Amino acid sequence: MHKVEDAGLHSLFDYADLLDHSLLEELEWLARQLKGMNIAHVNATARGGGVAEILHSLLPLYHGLGIDASWLVLRGDDPFFNVTKQMHNCLQGAVCGLTDADWDTHAAWNKYNAEFLESTYDAIIVHDPQPAALREFAPNAARKWVWRSHIDTSAPDPAAWARLSALVHNFDAAVFSLPEFAGPGLNGLHIDVMPPAIDPFVPKNVIMPEHEALAIVARYGIDPQRPFITQVSRFDPWKDPLGVIECFRRLKPDYPELQLAMLGNFADDDPEGRVMYDKVVVAAQGTPDVHIILGLTDLVGPFQQMSAVVLQKSLKEGFGLTATEALWKGTPVIAGNVGGLRLQVKDGVGGFLVDSVEECAERVDFLLNHNAERETLGAAGRDHVRKQFLLPRLLRDEMRLLHNLLNSNGHAAPDWRPAESEAQRELTG
Ligand code: UDP
Repeated sequence: MHKVEDAGLHSLFDYADLLDHSLLEELEWLARQLKGMNIAHVNATARGGGVAEILHSLLPLYHGLGIDASWLVLRGDDPFFNVTKQMHNCLQGAVCGLTDADWDTHAAWNKYNAEFLESTYDAIIVHDPQPAALREFAPNAARKWVWRSHIDTSAPDPAAWARLSALVHNFDAAVFSLPEFAGPGLNGLHIDVMPPAIDPFVPKNVIMPEHEALAIVARYGIDPQRPFITQVSRFDPWKDPLGVIECFRRLKPDYPELQLAMLGNFADDDPEGRVMYDKVVVAAQGTPDVHIILGLTDLVGPFQQMSAVVLQKSLKEGFGLTATEALWKGTPVIAGNVGGLRLQVKDGVGGFLVDSVEECAERVDFLLNHNAERETLGAAGRDHVRKQFLLPRLLRDEMRLLHNLLNSNGHAAPDWRPAESEAQRELTG
């Protein structure tokens, strides 16, 4: 286990013009309730994927509120990460070949990492299946343990879910992105639902002057004079990159000018990435204007901003921060009709949900021909993100849970109440 140092500090002051003041007031109140406590987030990678993206921005907000929060990252070897990626796939419903030996590997690495949990935390929040057995091996490292799932467990492999839920059952609470992700076997456990969120102030989410954004995409081979569509994703079968290429191929005869930017990276804890990348390269052969662009982080922003449409054609998706990021830039998203993407894209808001390659191509075709609709959908999508999917809302949900767990003393902890306004105070004397 190693600690991510220099997580930084970010004041909520920056959000004053973006969010409801009651949300910011509640955060200040919650910070007072949690004063002096120390919490830790534990996950499996400091780079690549949505969880790392969130923690990089969430920790500084905790620090800005004066709360002692740490971020710890598991250590593991290739066999461990092969097992945990298989677990991830099984829990998202893939055919599952996990053996007892695989679960032993999982347990052994969790035991090893648990030995590094020396401090006694008030609460530890464990993300996803990789560290799910930590509590087994270090039950006294925290007063309260929370398991936070980011994956789509709406239809998991039953055997894998049974093994995992037996571990999770020992936690004090479990958190999912959607209610339907909380599977059976968690009876009696406190369950919360918290969709993820983005940081509008990180470089990738800051909207640029258009000429600058176009100059950046041009640097990566996109012709800025011609339209392009984009998908940004780890190379993962669940993100359906092959479906994206097929969707583009169907459009190409009618749109010879159209380009496809496929931006992708590899997460440290995802050994399948290279295999999928090779398949994408082969699939793209013979189709002109497919640009496979590796390893961008901040610079995904200009692609999301300047695309005619952004795709997130996932087959399963816990949430899909890439869709949130695109919507924040006012770009419509065509998303797989699955998981957390359904929270973000709805009828008339943000774009369209699709169930097949054909539908994907039809919807892109429609948006390429209907500029006004494109703009209306994009603007509604941005407002939806502002209201629902910016980090302070997630921080509030998480701090409410921590307050309830840590300050309850056998009774429900008191909730925040908005302060009475001056006018009300005068009326009530
Ligand atoms: N990402 C990136 N560069 C890439 C691919 C992805 O910076 O080439 C980022 C993306 O912008 C998003 C995160 O990785 O912030 C992916 O999160 P998401 O929830 O969409 O998917 P996950 O990888 O967690 O399944």
